[in-house]
Order: sequence, then structure tokens, then C-alpha cells
Amino acid sequence: MSILQNLCQQLFKRSLWVYHANSGGCNGCDIEVLNVLTPYYDVERFGIKLVGSPRHADVMLCQGPAMRSTGKALRRAYEAMPAPKLVFAIGSCACGGGIWHDTYSVLGPVEKILPVSYYIPGCPPRPEAIIYGVAVALGVVDKKSAPVKFKQMELAIPRYHPEDLKEENGMVVYQKCEKI
Ligand code: SF4
Repeated sequence: MSILQNLCQQLFKRSLWVYHANSGGCNGCDIEVLNVLTPYYDVERFGIKLVGSPRHADVMLCQGPAMRSTGKALRRAYEAMPAPKLVFAIGSCACGGGIWHDTYSVLGPVEKILPVSYYIPGCPPRPEAIIYGVAVALGVVDKKSAPVKFKQMELAIPRYHPEDLKEENGMVVYQKCEKI
């Protein structure tokens, strides 16, 4: 068991109050996070409770990538949380920037702004995956998956180049699209 898991077990054994922060996601992950709090999945039976203020929270659940427009507010919310505190990056956007990772308004994964303790990938992750991730973090269950290293593959669609755009029947089309 890792030191972090050990700490979690000792400090958050009976209750885990969570603060839900979306720094710019599409709301898909939010819906799944809220789903785990509904009576169907009912994580309150494990002492996991949603709180309205970061000042009352042990854990911040982050959805969406780190954005230029919301980065400061996210950091301020994190700083308002009392120590010891954990951060869960939930969803591909929070874990790695997702499909927005190289857009102008996105800084990248949430770890660019906050120290992330645990990552729960998926777009969006299923409620079962979120509950499993939290249970692994708390040391309630053992991790059943092997770590995998990902490498950015070449994009199927070449990057945007204005010189490859041509006008056709009043529409601007990408010249090389027949090669894709
Ligand atoms: S990971 Fe997918 S579902 Fe979640 S915020 Fe990003 S795009 Fe939306």
C-alpha cells in the first residue's frame, strides 16, 4: 500500500467530503460525478458527501482541463481547502487535457495548476469507475489494472495550414482532405 493510500485510510476512513469543481469541461463528467451521489449509486453510505464550499472539503473532484480563464479561481478554491487534502482528476480532460489539450484557451491537464493525487480517466468515466477509483485511493479495494504508458500518436488529420485551404463553390475547403 502506498504512503498516500495509508494516509487516506487513516485520515479519511469514516468520511470523505468532496468539493466538485469544473474548470471548463463539457459537463459529461459532471453528470457522472453527480450520478454517483444519487440514491442509485448512493456513495453517502460510504461517508462520501458533496459539500458546497471548498473550506469544508477533504477532496476536490476536478473535471475539465486547466483553462486560462478559470485557472486562478481553481487554484484559489484549492488553497481554501483545509489540509490534508486530495485532488482527483476525473475524466480525460482533467487527466491530460483531452481533445482540447492544444487549443488556445487550454493550459493542459489540471496538474498544471493543482497537485493531483489520483487520476480517473474516461470520457466520461462511468460512475462505477469513479467509485472504484475512490475505493482504490482509500485502500478499500486492491488495484486490479496494470499501469499502461501512452504515447501521443500522430494525428489522423494534419494540423491546420492556411495554405492548404482553397475556395470551391463559395465554400472554403481543405485541399488535402481526400488524402485523409
Ligand atoms: S472528459 Fe469527456 S465528458 Fe469529461 S469533460 Fe472532457 S470531453 Fe466532457
